[in-house]
Amino acid sequence: MKRVPSIRSSLAKLVAACLLPALIAAAVLLYYSYQRVRADLANDALAKANALMLTVDREFEGADRSLRALATSPYLRYSDMASLHEQAVNVLKGNNINSIVLINSAGQQVLNTAGQYGSALPMSTNSLQLERVITLGQSDVSDLFLTPLPSGLAINVAIPVRVAGQVTHSLVGVVLPMRLQEILLESRLPPNRIAAIFDGAGTIAARTHEVERFRGKSITPALFEQVTLKKEGMFETVSLDGTPVLTVFVRSEKSRWGVAIGVPISSLTADLRRWIGLLVGFTALLLTASLGLAWAMGGRIATAIRSLAEPAAALGYGQAVSVPALPIREVNEFGQAITKASAMLVETDAALKGSEQRIRGIVLSAMDAIITVDESQIIVLFNPAAAAMFGCPVEQAIGSPATRFIPERFHTRHHDFVRKQRVHGGNSAEFGVVNTAVGRRVDGQEFTVEMSYSSLVESGNQFHTFIIRDSTDRIRAYEALERSNLDLQQFAYVASHDLKTPLRSIGGFVQILERNYGDKLDEKALGLIHRTSSAVQRLEQLTEDLLSYARVNSEVRPFAIVNCAEMADEVIGLLDAAIRGSAAQVTAGELPSVMGDRTQLVQLLLNLIGNGIKYCRDRAPVVHFSAVRGNGEWVFSVTDNGIGIDARFHAKIFEVFKRLHSQSEYSGTGIGLAVCRRVVERHGGKIWITSTVGKGSTFSFSIPDIT
Ligand code: ADP
Repeated sequence: MKRVPSIRSSLAKLVAACLLPALIAAAVLLYYSYQRVRADLANDALAKANALMLTVDREFEGADRSLRALATSPYLRYSDMASLHEQAVNVLKGNNINSIVLINSAGQQVLNTAGQYGSALPMSTNSLQLERVITLGQSDVSDLFLTPLPSGLAINVAIPVRVAGQVTHSLVGVVLPMRLQEILLESRLPPNRIAAIFDGAGTIAARTHEVERFRGKSITPALFEQVTLKKEGMFETVSLDGTPVLTVFVRSEKSRWGVAIGVPISSLTADLRRWIGLLVGFTALLLTASLGLAWAMGGRIATAIRSLAEPAAALGYGQAVSVPALPIREVNEFGQAITKASAMLVETDAALKGSEQRIRGIVLSAMDAIITVDESQIIVLFNPAAAAMFGCPVEQAIGSPATRFIPERFHTRHHDFVRKQRVHGGNSAEFGVVNTAVGRRVDGQEFTVEMSYSSLVESGNQFHTFIIRDSTDRIRAYEALERSNLDLQQFAYVASHDLKTPLRSIGGFVQILERNYGDKLDEKALGLIHRTSSAVQRLEQLTEDLLSYARVNSEVRPFAIVNCAEMADEVIGLLDAAIRGSAAQVTAGELPSVMGDRTQLVQLLLNLIGNGIKYCRDRAPVVHFSAVRGNGEWVFSVTDNGIGIDARFHAKIFEVFKRLHSQSEYSGTGIGLAVCRRVVERHGGKIWITSTVGKGSTFSFSIPDIT
């Protein structure tokens, strides 16, 4: 694995990266300042060399001028050598010329102030100069040459002497190198500058350092080469005494003499070295300090972060973690977050375990079979109720295919269903919907079931859960109930229908009895006849009502559009006698048309409005019939200002024969509202009441809006 850099090394790199540009900038600055110092020093040395060269040339010119004055001497014209000698000696006095020599064109010295006048004089040794002066008639400054003089070396400044326009002699002023040495010393060069004055042949005449050693010696070949090429210049070389120097030089066109000044490189670089030293030292110090700091800081951060590793791992295992305060704010905040997260995790974990246990308890104790299968229809959960239902122990069911509990002819349907749920990705419209299906016990026995479905995607895997209830008993009971209801209905219908005729006969007989034998009977017998007659009437009413109740479901007509406004008018018309009798006020609002059985709806309305008129005391009844549009239905209401009904009886009054009053208070059979409920339910609606005792009631019913 690639080694990941530590925070320490990263910080160290950062420090180095920050310092490096500053260091480079300092080095560049240093280099440029060195270049400037070097250029300044070189220019300064060059100026000095030029000044020295000028002084040397002036020295030679001074000698030249003095000699020219002597050359015009009349003694020369008259060949009065004794007087000329004397004049020459006088010239020497105010001058830097060591001696004056007059040489004729044949090279014979004819006058020499170095000796007594009259003493024998030698031939000139500098024939080259003599030739230049005599033949070219030009003044000349010689190179350094060896003389018999005690100084050993000398320079001859020679001018031509003309007599009658003819160059007859060469007048020579001997200048000693000491004079040039003096000039050099007077120039007051800084002590470490190595300066030299040299002749046209490159021989040193004067030198600031070790003059005795180097006088008469040649300048370095490198310098000589430069001097022959250029009038002035500078270059780096090694001086005669072996010192590395930056040499500047100037050569005089006139005298061919030259001056060179060597600036020791060491003096140039001394500053640079000092600064480099300082820079290196400072950088090293800065780097060490910064790196030390970065290292220490990195260590602190690393330790703080490392101390989080253990709590983080513990967090992963769901353990309670408490991270102590840490010295780095961000790390500390992170640590506290871990602590908080751990507390939350522990809490959630506990809650999760609790809820898991609860769910487990529910699954284990559920009366319904609960079966969960994975994507390949293998059972992963099978509760005891499932085991009992399918006759298969839990441990045998887990891991086996779910299809073993489904009759083979339904396998394709089952697979199609599950495949469709998979497409829906665990979020299906089928969730919670109860479907009927057929199950198969392990012994092969089939039974009907009601089943709801849900699915869940967990870690990318889809699980399907079926909650199954054996519906065999329920269906059986339902069928039995249906049958008994039907029987009962049949019975009620037959009984009420068949009772009508004998009842009418009894009524008729009682009437005949009263009519034909009334005068023969006493009061008591007549009372009994009356009571029998009203009992028969009541019984007739009862059988009539019962018959109409039974007819709601047995005498059904197809639904048709019913205009409720017309219907209300009809009902009000039918109730005319009752309305007049009680001075009631019956009104209707705006009413819609609905799909329904008109005869039954008329019966419904007759009952409700009739009750509104009937159940009123101490005031004239006011009944209002209205309708409002609900959600996909019409809600009709019959409101009265009657006696009202206590909330305790609201549900009860819709049951058959349930009455709240005695016959003497309000006549009735207790079947009217039961008929109402049946009619409304047959139309797919509901009926209910809101009422305040003593103030009135509102009976409302809904009819689906399917017109
Ligand atoms: P019946 O009117 O023949 O007694 P119903 O089934 O029509 O039978 O009514 C059942 C009972 O509900 C009545 O006995 C009465 O006590 C009560 N009831 C019905 N309608 C009203 C009403 N509008 N106001 C007060 N009580 C009523």
